[in-house]
Amino acid sequence: MEKVIEVKNLVKVYGKRSAAFTALKHLNLDIYKGESVAIIGKSGSGKSTLMHLLALLDKPTSGTIKINGIDSTKLRAHKLNQLRNQSFGFVFQQFFMNPNDTVLENVMLPLKIAGVRRKKRKELATKALHTVGLEERLKFKANDLSGGQKQRVCIARALVNDPSIIFADEPTGNLDSTTGDKIIKLLFDANKKGTTLIIVTHDEDLAKLCNRQVRIMDGEIVEDTGAKSQKSSKKPNSQSKSAKTSASGAKSAKKGAKK
Ligand code: ADP
Ligand code: MG
Repeated sequence: MEKVIEVKNLVKVYGKRSAAFTALKHLNLDIYKGESVAIIGKSGSGKSTLMHLLALLDKPTSGTIKINGIDSTKLRAHKLNQLRNQSFGFVFQQFFMNPNDTVLENVMLPLKIAGVRRKKRKELATKALHTVGLEERLKFKANDLSGGQKQRVCIARALVNDPSIIFADEPTGNLDSTTGDKIIKLLFDANKKGTTLIIVTHDEDLAKLCNRQVRIMDGEIVEDTGAKSQKSSKKPNSQSKSAKTSASGAKSAKKGAKK
């Protein structure tokens, strides 16, 4: 199976000297093409920190992150931005839209950054808004939409560049459960079409919908049910066993890394 993300000895320290706080402690993680991965854990465990690093929105203190075999820690800012714009889609708990721009403009923005011509931008954004059922809201101001509609705009914006990976950080956190379910369906529809899906959540039910669960506690991976095709046993209850094995595997990898 093709690795889309390969993380080795990832460390993130916030602050300096006496104020230093280690949010991620020597993480190792491989993510394969087409997986749906839930990153779960309590508030403050380091989920968002990990996602921001994987999505190249922040830099690690040490360790490496390879995206499709390319070591992102060796890339210059320009190449990093290019990789992010071309390969990733983002959905956050807070919608992060330009409230006074139209729905269409908001969805066109990533393409503008990527240098796509206006006509093409409009065409692709319209198509993405169609996918999320908002084709009749193109000219609305983003601010004039309901929460669920706003999140659908964000999903359209995440899909518009046909990304190989979608990162979603608590995508249903601010929504009621019915609206949240619609958002989840849209994300998994994209996954079925081949997009790798990485969802950060503290919602165990949402996590269960993913084919793999990675649990973080105090900046460490304490459980990883592993990539699906890597599981040797077909027994349905083999999951907890494989989880323990890979968690201890992560620990020994960590020890080995310290040298
Ligand atoms: P989660 O998403 O699991 O709730 P975060 O990754 O946001 O957790 O945070 C992990 C830890 O790192 C928390 O203790 C948080 O307070 C700390 N942290 C996050 N961002 C910063 C920052 N910019 N500066 C200092 N500490 C931070
Ligand atoms: Mg978070």
